[in-house]
Amino acid sequence: LLEARGIRKSFGDNEVLRSIDLEVRRGEVVVLIGPSGSGKTTVLRSLNGLETPDGGTVSIAGGPSLDFSTPISKAERFALRDRSAMVFQQHNLFPHMTVLQNVIEGPVRVQKVPKARAEAEASALLDRVGLAEKHDAYPFELSGGQQQRVGIVRALALKPQLLLFDEPTSALDPELVGEVLQVIKELADEGWTMVVVTHELGFARQAADEVLFMDGGVVVERGAPGQLFTAPREERTRRFLQRIL
Ligand code: ATP
Repeated sequence: LLEARGIRKSFGDNEVLRSIDLEVRRGEVVVLIGPSGSGKTTVLRSLNGLETPDGGTVSIAGGPSLDFSTPISKAERFALRDRSAMVFQQHNLFPHMTVLQNVIEGPVRVQKVPKARAEAEASALLDRVGLAEKHDAYPFELSGGQQQRVGIVRALALKPQLLLFDEPTSALDPELVGEVLQVIKELADEGWTMVVVTHELGFARQAADEVLFMDGGVVVERGAPGQLFTAPREERTRRFLQRIL
């Protein structure tokens, strides 16, 4: 479903991605782990067209393969963005809109879905993540975990081929992390294709088909969670895991 090859990105002199390859098959969950500053967020943003890599190619869901070594058009960037939806660390909900209004904003405004249909679909999704009672609440009336679940529903409402999660629980109080990870786990079980950046290794162990350990802008090691967490091949992976376990 996703194929990225040789993704490179520098900010000034800072070479943040030094040739990243990533493949995700339909229904697969790929988890990116690694120290702060290793480039994980930049990988996600590159897949989603929020960042323009300096080189490499990306193709999502049978869309055209975009080659970043030549300038890409706005239309190509939007085509890339259409195929994936990103859930951010901070949910960025519109504070003056209700939960339901937040969720239908993208489908109605951007995708021109009729409002009644968007509302029906949004309601069903909100019910599914345990927010049946909260359609008309405002974001400030919700807990952080509930807000982040709305953030996830907002991404789902766009019906993307690929879900991208950028540290979806790192801004939450510890007791709220579990409920959000549970929702993501359920989506994985339902067959959504996703790339997840997280420091939650328990989640990675349970949900990932493949784990990539990044450091210094390269993928140092990749493997099934069972292998990578219990018998890492690379010294750098071992040291990272020792630090955070
Ligand atoms: P974290 O876990 O802290 O989010 P990360 O692995 O996701 O880290 P990135 O956010 O991808 O890492 O950042 C990698 C490097 O790129 C960092 O050194 C960061 O300062 C730099 N960087 C990211 N975005 C920009 C930008 N827009 N302009 C300049 N430098 C940037």
